[in-house]
Amino acid sequence: MPSSLLKIPSQQRAITQDDNGKPRVTHDAAVPHISSGTVLVKTASVALNPSDFKMGAAFPAPGAIVGMDFSGQIVAIADGTVTDLAVGDTVFAAVHGSNPMRPDNGAFAEYVRADAAMVFRLHASLSPRQAATLGTALSTCTMALWGEHALALSSTPDTAAAAQAPDPLVPVLVYGGSTATGTIAIQLLRLSGYDPIVTCSPRNFELCRSRGASAAFDYTSPDVVGNIQAHTRGLLKYALDCISDAQSVDICYQAIQRPGGKYVSLELVRDELLQKRRAVKAAFVLAPEVYGEEIRLGKGYGRPANPNNRTMAMRLFTSFQRLIDEQKIVPHPSRALDGGLDGIVAGLDLLKSGSVSGEKLVFTI
Ligand code: NAP
Repeated sequence: MPSSLLKIPSQQRAITQDDNGKPRVTHDAAVPHISSGTVLVKTASVALNPSDFKMGAAFPAPGAIVGMDFSGQIVAIADGTVTDLAVGDTVFAAVHGSNPMRPDNGAFAEYVRADAAMVFRLHASLSPRQAATLGTALSTCTMALWGEHALALSSTPDTAAAAQAPDPLVPVLVYGGSTATGTIAIQLLRLSGYDPIVTCSPRNFELCRSRGASAAFDYTSPDVVGNIQAHTRGLLKYALDCISDAQSVDICYQAIQRPGGKYVSLELVRDELLQKRRAVKAAFVLAPEVYGEEIRLGKGYGRPANPNNRTMAMRLFTSFQRLIDEQKIVPHPSRALDGGLDGIVAGLDLLKSGSVSGEKLVFTI
């Protein structure tokens, strides 16, 4: 039976925050309402992100549905929505789960509301499980690599295809190249005409190289800074820090040589760590900034509305869709765990343990 003929229930099973912000299975969460510009997706697969446990701990929002990354089939399109999408299309995207401002929506649920302008169509080369790993990584890279206050790189996959590559290519350090964000950043940088170099554990050197990194450095080596400086011959100006702790800030800052450059983190870094070198301009980005809406969170995580971000993201997402259709973006390796929605809480504990390396945990819903 076509999904358009399925009756959409008013209640659903979901992972929501308990009174302490901890994730738990809920059997009677409301199915989110859709308004103009949005679609309702019946979830097929979801992927886990560290923010799925960090958000509830830092910004508890009891009852809020958890989860960012999903894939699934469109079952309804809101009236007044201008889109090429149709009911029955299989799509993937990220949403801002655990969001105190929109607690009714998150990926870890049977139904997810998504912005029609910011979902990707599934290409036949990808499984729903693989596709579920991509949404947050693509949003994060959008803000980190091209955000006006972040690295603000001048070249994109579209402009690189039309321009002659500089010689030598401009190096960009991806600290934490083996993270789910890192392996996508490596590819987007390479496709945009940059030379991605990474730090990660030696066991993940090959993963990073397979995605386009020209060099990989062990971040535990005492020579890591010197090795990066020698490799880039003093030309490194840009660093994307996917780890964002005291050690990563230190290594990125030392690797960027005179006359300075730009550094972007994915977690808030204490000011005293950043003030060591004025010649390095630092930024901290959040994936949900792509929607251009206000992010109302405390502790330095809040953001005013910025429609420019949405405009930029929509342009880049069109380009990413082309790359996906041309099979030029390889998803992060994934590990499927059993249990559907009921398995997610244990999956988040596993992710939190720090033992997951070079792969994304996914569930079929
Ligand atoms: P992930 O896939 O969960 O990263 C796992 C990898 O991190 C491991 O394979 C390990 O690499 C590396 N790692 C762990 N601890 C490390 C350390 N102390 N030093 C160096 N490397 C370490 O990562 P992710 O999902 O991309 O997330 C990465 C970080 O970015 C998290 O803190 C997450 O919360 C944040 N994030 C923020 C946003 C945002 O919107 N701001 C979006 C996405 C992610 P090796 O095994 O190779 O050592």
